[in-house]
Amino acid sequence: MEHILVIDDSRAQAEYLKSILSSDYAVTTCQNGEEGLDLAKSGQFSLIFLDIIMPEMDGFTLLRKLQETLVTKYIPVILITGLSDVQHEEKGLTLGAVDYITKPFSPITVKARANTHIKLFHYQMHFMKQAMVDQLTGIANRRRYKEYSIAKWREAGRLGLPFTLCIFDIDKFKTYNDTFGHPAGDKVIAAVAKTASSYLQRATDFLARYGGEEFVAIVVGMEAQEAFQFFQKIRQAVEDLHMPHNSAVSPWVTISIGGVTLVPQNDDVYDTYLKIADNMLYDAKEHGRNRVVWSNGNEEQWREK
Ligand code: GH3
Ligand code: MG
Ligand code: MG
Repeated sequence: MEHILVIDDSRAQAEYLKSILSSDYAVTTCQNGEEGLDLAKSGQFSLIFLDIIMPEMDGFTLLRKLQETLVTKYIPVILITGLSDVQHEEKGLTLGAVDYITKPFSPITVKARANTHIKLFHYQMHFMKQAMVDQLTGIANRRRYKEYSIAKWREAGRLGLPFTLCIFDIDKFKTYNDTFGHPAGDKVIAAVAKTASSYLQRATDFLARYGGEEFVAIVVGMEAQEAFQFFQKIRQAVEDLHMPHNSAVSPWVTISIGGVTLVPQNDDVYDTYLKIADNMLYDAKEHGRNRVVWSNGNEEQWREK
């Protein structure tokens, strides 16, 4: 059942709305803005009814706070207004409320609006998710990577945790396409994504399709040597799929991996890490492909084989 939150300082009014909606929805009521904000942050609500006129925190202030908070900014808010509140309605809509209902409520109208806005909310969430997912592989796309990587990198820096960034790329993939055709190539890209993601299962692990046949992975909390070995397993797992290829590298499809692991420091620039990982990948390609090359950000560098 969908959850609706009603925030109204008048308990009677909140209870009345609840009685209208509770045949179709799970309704929670509360009488002040602070509590409403805390409840909204729980992430369980698909719609909020919000009274404008409240003592302490009024509806406009709360609306602004909801919009500023990542976990609540997309929850639709319907304002509860009085008959003579045209200006309030305008202001509320300008501030991002999706709709308003006017006292005295018509139960049918209230239900119809709740229905519509919950439906729209789910559409929006669906499309937002789609916009972050790569269609071919089902993993995150580059847009999602951009958002996620910087946030994770900052967080690792704050917590003093080692941050791993790595790039991998399918070996001699142009030849693969030329030999087996583009559709077969697409299947290989999807298989590589599936294999890699089967290893990157922890909540903080991240994998995205960076470009055509290139992937990027992020791992937090693993020391450099450990990460180096971990990604060798992924490289090996792709080789072990035994997808036929006819390159000089191997009879099978293989990948080369370049990575860097270090604890982010205050004056570091994220792009430097990307550059290092890219250099390591280049090194892996130069030294025969189908191998992992790693840097700890200082002088040290490890190359598989
Ligand atoms: P290297 O080992 O140096 O990486 O050689 P490569 O041939 O893989 O490198 P290059 O970057 O020259 O070629 C990448 C090829 O990947 C070219 C392009 O046709 C193919 N490719 C890129 N995106 C896709 C895709 O979405 N599907 C398929 N099937 N092929 C793609
Ligand atoms: Mg490439
Ligand atoms: Mg390639």
